[in-house]
Amino acid sequence: MSETITRPIDRSHMLVSDEIAIDIRNMNKWYGTFHVLRDIDLTVHRGERIVIAGPSGSGKSTLIRCINRLEEHQAGHIVVDGIELTNDIKNIDKVRSEVGMVFQHFNLFPHLTVLENCTLAPIWVRKVPRRQAEETAMRFLEKVKIPEQAHKYPGQLSGGQQQRVAIARSLCMQPKIMLFDEPTSALDPEMIKEVLDTMIELAEEGMTMLCVTHEMGFAQAVANRVIFMDQGQIVEQNEPREFFNNPKSERTKLFLSQIL
Ligand code: ADP
Ligand code: MG
Repeated sequence: MSETITRPIDRSHMLVSDEIAIDIRNMNKWYGTFHVLRDIDLTVHRGERIVIAGPSGSGKSTLIRCINRLEEHQAGHIVVDGIELTNDIKNIDKVRSEVGMVFQHFNLFPHLTVLENCTLAPIWVRKVPRRQAEETAMRFLEKVKIPEQAHKYPGQLSGGQQQRVAIARSLCMQPKIMLFDEPTSALDPEMIKEVLDTMIELAEEGMTMLCVTHEMGFAQAVANRVIFMDQGQIVEQNEPREFFNNPKSERTKLFLSQIL
């Protein structure tokens, strides 16, 4: 089990509301003829912290990329904060402005400073005045504990610092939901903790989060639900204690025996 979670977690703000943040019904997706997601049903309530686990190639990234339409589904429904994802570009823009995403490989703009990375979308997409966007960005850079890096370029930062910039950049758009796709998988072990700490703080503030991660210590400490995917399907889901101590399906048992 991961030893990266080393402090008690304050769950007092982690309230799960009755309100639905994401509703996925009978969703299917193909890449060409390859049926990558099969009959996905998933309802996420506001305030939930969901960890998605499963073997490589099981469709985890594709699933979360469908939620902000980086990938298109071909059947079924995806509704985010009451907005259905269809070809309507207005809806896609609305959903993207509410959903932040953090990738394995940071995806920062290398030719822009940390501060410019954080203010680009607020200024150009949200039309926030530059001064105000910079103030907000500094607030979030302080939150992820790297305000002193604001005028450096991504290439001058460590991987852990770059990933915290990526999180701050997402937060600058004031998202209602945060999606994480293996945010610590590209990091050296000593940097994993600093990124997980940032994610834990977000959870403690009540952010709705979907995280694809192999950090099972994080899942146990922070998630209220763990979803296990295999071959494009949700095979099993449960609250963490039951998921880890009492897995139901053979596929889940096999997966857990390989990673724990
Ligand atoms: P995971 O994140 O669980 O490792 P992915 O969602 O990345 O899985 O991929 C699921 C399956 O879809 C894999 O077999 C992968 O090779 C395939 N796949 C992913 N992206 C594409 C794509 N753009 N075109 C075709 N196949 C893809
Ligand atoms: Mg993936």
